[in-house]
Amino acid sequence: MHFSSGINRPPYEASDGFLQITSGCSHGKCEFCTFYKDSPFKLSPMEEIESDIKELMQSDWDFDRIYLQGADPFIRRTEDLIKIADLIHYYLPQVRSIGGYARVDNLKNKTVEQLKELADIGYGYFYFGVESGDDKLLDRMHKGYHADFVLEQCRKMDNAGMPWIGNFLGGLGGHNWGLSHARETAKVYNQLKPAMIYASELTLFPDTPLSADVAAGKYEEATETERIQEMQEFIRCLNIPTIFRAEHVTMPIRINGRIPEDKDGMINKLQKVLDERGEESLHNYRRRVSSL
Ligand code: SF4
Repeated sequence: MHFSSGINRPPYEASDGFLQITSGCSHGKCEFCTFYKDSPFKLSPMEEIESDIKELMQSDWDFDRIYLQGADPFIRRTEDLIKIADLIHYYLPQVRSIGGYARVDNLKNKTVEQLKELADIGYGYFYFGVESGDDKLLDRMHKGYHADFVLEQCRKMDNAGMPWIGNFLGGLGGHNWGLSHARETAKVYNQLKPAMIYASELTLFPDTPLSADVAAGKYEEATETERIQEMQEFIRCLNIPTIFRAEHVTMPIRINGRIPEDKDGMINKLQKVLDERGEESLHNYRRRVSSL
């Protein structure tokens, strides 16, 4: 199997089969991320993909979903994705769905009709790294798009009926930026239909440009109290029916529930952790997070 950066997946995809169809990240400019720094962006050749699928066929791993590898495998053209799905279904008839991480701009080269076609052959539940709906923050972090673009592109997913997952990166704005980040991001999601919103917390590692900014006094990280208040505000502002999960290792407490039914419960749970553990204990938790 070819895995240029190991296997990367959200916690919910542990039992999938993994297949690399792109390497690295097509963007690679976000201030807080060097995740794929040793793996330049590349489309995997079809022969390599077919040979990896054959290897998967011979493994004794029991899976019915393929989680594509690379930061944004959904960037591939529809024609390629159809060919890849054909190969997957030919060699691995047990596979029911195909997903992976995605960037919002991966949707630029796909129409609603094409997305419908891709949904019909099993593509779905891609994790879109939206991170924020706050334009100033998106610029500050060099995400490469604005909220309007997120709305325009993700509506295509909704119109095509392809279920998708959006993320919220708590603490991204640093000190004093949490509430506007929470409100602006909820405003974007409230106009869309994500099947799930998946939240995690910014946790800086030494080799990122943002860490250099911290050292140079150009960026101040959010306190743990601010992060909890921001997450509470984000949940409070969401008003679409969806699932909310924040169970990443970067969360000092795991929460999940349905919006809107479980909003109060999740907000109260966050408050309890803040009241009972306090800033220092939560900060110590984050310091111990050594990898994502
Ligand atoms: S956060 Fe995602 S889009 Fe940004 S550089 Fe990292 S992998 Fe690429």
